Amino acid sequence: METLRDMLGAKGVLTTPGDMAAFLDDPLGATVTPPRAVLRPGSTAEVQAALRWCQSEGLSVVPQGGLTGLTQAAVPVDLDKTVILSLGRMNRLRELDADSATATVDAGMVLADLRARAEEAGFYFPLSHGAVGSSQIGGNLSTNAGGNNALCYGVARDQVLGLEVVLPDGTLWDGLRALRKNTAGYDLRQLFIGAEGSLGIITGAVVKLRPLPVSRATAFVGVKTPGAALKLLHALSARMGGTVAAFELISRGALDAALAHTGMRDPLEAPGAWSVLIEAETASEAMDLGGLLEDGLAGAFEAELIQDALLAQNEAQRMAFWKLREAIAEALIRDESCLKSDTAVPVGRVPEYLEAAGRAVDRFLPGVRPVPFGHLGDGNVHFNLMRPETMPHGAFRGHWVALTEILAEEAIRLGGTLSAEHGIGRLKCEEFAAVVDPVSLRIMRSLKQALDPDGRMNPGVLFAR
Ligand SMILES: Cc1cc2nc3c(=O)[nH]c(=O)nc-3n(C[C@H](O)[C@H](O)[C@H](O)COP(=O)(O)OP(=O)(O)OC[C@H]3O[C@@H](n4cnc5c(N)ncnc54)[C@H](O)[C@@H]3O)c2cc1C
Repeated sequence: METLRDMLGAKGVLTTPGDMAAFLDDPLGATVTPPRAVLRPGSTAEVQAALRWCQSEGLSVVPQGGLTGLTQAAVPVDLDKTVILSLGRMNRLRELDADSATATVDAGMVLADLRARAEEAGFYFPLSHGAVGSSQIGGNLSTNAGGNNALCYGVARDQVLGLEVVLPDGTLWDGLRALRKNTAGYDLRQLFIGAEGSLGIITGAVVKLRPLPVSRATAFVGVKTPGAALKLLHALSARMGGTVAAFELISRGALDAALAHTGMRDPLEAPGAWSVLIEAETASEAMDLGGLLEDGLAGAFEAELIQDALLAQNEAQRMAFWKLREAIAEALIRDESCLKSDTAVPVGRVPEYLEAAGRAVDRFLPGVRPVPFGHLGDGNVHFNLMRPETMPHGAFRGHWVALTEILAEEAIRLGGTLSAEHGIGRLKCEEFAAVVDPVSLRIMRSLKQALDPDGRMNPGVLFAR
């Protein structure tokens, strides 16, 4: 350990329980195995030195970003001989190139900081979600985060032009290119995006920047059914010229959880079974987004697609709508007996999925209470489940693997996936093994074997041990 301290400095190697505590605080309350140390390198060269040292000591490495991930993937669980490698000290904006509209960042830069620095320079980095204030670029890329406006701008993977990665043996792969086009060989950067730290440590990235929106229009809308919400999405998308950036479907149960969590009032006078939070944004001065959205909603009202709607009249009201939306995730994460789901299906099949999944979980566990909410525009409505009212948490917890498998099977039957934006992590390994097709699994295992032959990078994540 002293050799490593010489390389990383005293603040780069933490070993006391007090110093390490903040790095073990998983948001879903995983029971963490105390690591040998928390390593906090301050540069790519120090990450290389740390990984060479871990290799020589035979230690496993758990990469850690902002520790906001929802699959228990950034802390050691049931692991011997492990260190956490936290990227938090590598938080610099290395370069902002206005001519190429790109930013080159350290992997430990917090997502909100990158968005703010881009904005200062007159640009927009669109990726955003409920943990924008503490998740890091490296973590967002490693989970291929989605969030609230993937409908318009794509997911984390779509923002990246180049990547810098340290491989498990300390070798540096310098793929930090700002190219918009490159067909010279395999696209290696995509291998590490969504790999959940199982193939190496992302230390830097070149990301795309976009023109800064100059206007937004936001509405909170009541609908009777998810089917009506889907029709509304298509009607508004057609009318508003690709400006609909967010389209968040919220069930009554999910909204009630957020109202109880915040003490806020339902924004609508005639609350219905489902709500939708809609936001459109544009960088064009020439568009009257508010007018377009108002007309679109009036048409939807006449067509009896919607029951009630409230357009945000100012930034404070817009922020209140979003506060309510983000409070759903916070409230359900805080409720330890709520099963979190991250399935997705093709957008057009969401209504069918919600019905089929509801029937299937109720058949398996009568009285279980679905609280679906999320990104209808991406087909990724989180089908979260609360325990039957009379069932204790422990007994409900015992059904989680089976319930997650049921939700995954229903999604896959409709052409969907077990995990849309959170990853597999340690939490869903068993379910992943049960539903993944064997050819995909064989290719994934071959890649893991090629890049991490000793299996020291984040063991237990993705592949059950
Ligand atoms: C309230 C709340 C709301 C959320 N809403 C959303 C949402 O809408 N959409 C969404 O997609 N997610 C959401 N999340 C989940 C979470 O914020 C994302 O998964 C985020 O991308 C994790 O980033 P992080 O920096 O916290 O990574 P961590 O949690 O620290 O790590 C996540 C994974 O990435 C690996 N990793 C981290 N950094 C690196 C690196 N530099 N190199 C290699 N591997 C690395 C870790 O080993 C782990 O496997 C939410 C979380 C919370 C708490």
